[in-house]
Amino acid sequence: MEESCCAVCAENLEWVAYGFCGHREVCSTCVVRLRFILADRRCCICKTQCPFVFVTKEFGDYTKTITDFSTFPSDPKEGCVGGSLWYHEETKVFFDDFNQYTRIKSMCRLSCTSCDKSKKGSKSNHRLRFKSVEHLKDHLSHQHKLHMCSLCLVGRKVFVCEQKLFTKDQLNQHISSGDSEVDGSESERGGFTGHPMCEFCKRPFYGGNELYTHMSREHYTCHICQR
Ligand SMILES: [Zn+2]
Ligand SMILES: [Zn+2]
Ligand SMILES: [Zn+2]
Ligand SMILES: [Zn+2]
Ligand SMILES: [Zn+2]
Ligand SMILES: [Zn+2]
Repeated sequence: MEESCCAVCAENLEWVAYGFCGHREVCSTCVVRLRFILADRRCCICKTQCPFVFVTKEFGDYTKTITDFSTFPSDPKEGCVGGSLWYHEETKVFFDDFNQYTRIKSMCRLSCTSCDKSKKGSKSNHRLRFKSVEHLKDHLSHQHKLHMCSLCLVGRKVFVCEQKLFTKDQLNQHISSGDSEVDGSESERGGFTGHPMCEFCKRPFYGGNELYTHMSREHYTCHICQR
């Protein structure tokens, strides 16, 4: 069986997430990231609004196929919703695997690393909870004058709480050359030299793949070299 890749991140497709339109080409991490971080509930392939999606292991032609989403519980609550089915409320995603459900759930956990750090050692183990990514962003910029990189937020496959925090100047340096203090040493940066810029729109993209997709969609593709 040929290995398939996620149509968005191009990584090996191990867990697929799909809605009632049935496009089973995108990995669960990419789908959950869009639903959670950008509140974008459209299918990445056909742009249909998908109120719910289902996450299951990808087995090529043998991947579990659900065409009738009305068989799912109609008013689901967070957690196990019967049999071997779990539901993640914030993203409206059903899972047929418990470990995958808990992995995604912790990926979506929102807390302020800056506050958490300063509270370490103090008696209070009260952790601030945030309703949404926007809420956390507001808190970071007002309380700490810190910012997450919005490109890394969508593009980097890490938990939200693992995102790096930048001051305004550091963020600009991170985007243009990738070598701000926060980005760390040369080895920690792993060849990262900033987010590539579209010369036409003067807008940065997460990486070469994202820029290429943008260029071929919004601008042109050269017929000779496909660039
Ligand atoms: Zn993906
Ligand atoms: Zn679709
Ligand atoms: Zn904080
Ligand atoms: Zn970034
Ligand atoms: Zn452009
Ligand atoms: Zn060319």
